[in-house]
Amino acid sequence: RTVYVNGEYLPEEKATVSIFDRSFLMADGVYEVTSVLGGKLIDFAGHAKRLERSLNELEMQKPDAFDDLLDIHRELVRLNDIDEGMIYLQVSRGSAGDRDFAYPSADVKPTLVLFTQNKPGLADSPKALEGFKVISIDDQRWGRRDIKTTQLLYPSMGKMMAKAAGCDDAWMIEDGHVTEGTSNNAYIVKGNTIITRHLGTEILHGITRAAVLRFAKEAQMKIEERSFTIEEAQGADEAFITSASTFVMPVVEIDGAAVGAGTPGPIAARLREIYLEESRKVAI
Ligand code: PLP
Repeated sequence: RTVYVNGEYLPEEKATVSIFDRSFLMADGVYEVTSVLGGKLIDFAGHAKRLERSLNELEMQKPDAFDDLLDIHRELVRLNDIDEGMIYLQVSRGSAGDRDFAYPSADVKPTLVLFTQNKPGLADSPKALEGFKVISIDDQRWGRRDIKTTQLLYPSMGKMMAKAAGCDDAWMIEDGHVTEGTSNNAYIVKGNTIITRHLGTEILHGITRAAVLRFAKEAQMKIEERSFTIEEAQGADEAFITSASTFVMPVVEIDGAAVGAGTPGPIAARLREIYLEESRKVAI
């Protein structure tokens, strides 16, 4: 793979960052994930906007190359010949050459890294016909989940717990209500109504979530942005998740209980179809 590090395109073996980089020492970094379909970027503008917000919330400098991010993404797609896959972008507060809790002075430039993952068949994933099985776990993350930081240890633990239970992912619970999946937003469907947690600091404001809710409204579906319990989800007609890497993915089982018929529901399937079709049309 060819990756991008601080202004250079390099083979991955040649790419390095300092051992004092704050992303390594303190998880002092933010990231974005953009999918590629047909060699084009999906929802790029939304991801760039959220990146800017994450940087602002953490008082982190914008990388010098911020205005060139679209070109860098496109160049990596070209260099790595990606038809379907993902581009990961990570910004850290950089390295002041030593370890210190205090932020470094303004002359320390942020570290900017981008790399690709080639995923042929991403849009036609057979998993979308099967659906995900999820478990519920306590949400033990920090309180600013609206900032897309690289503090991904608890979500990793959650994925491992799900795997150990023979499942695909975990939905996290706080104060008796579902916040979100380990790397996705969570939804249930009752009749013609789509229910998903309201935005706040408790969840990441998914770029896919925003697009899917817009498409759902256009398709005359009803939307309720509110929290729900695992019991309500288990008794719903359908459940699904959204993220840049799974698009819309049905959820067919929660803590061992089948949702609806225990197979992907028609609304989730339709939203997946609409999302893929409409996003491809405006991909850049
Ligand atoms: N929630 C969390 C915790 C995530 O990590 C992600 C994506 O990685 C999402 C939601 C979905 O966000 P998006 O649709 O922007 O990928």
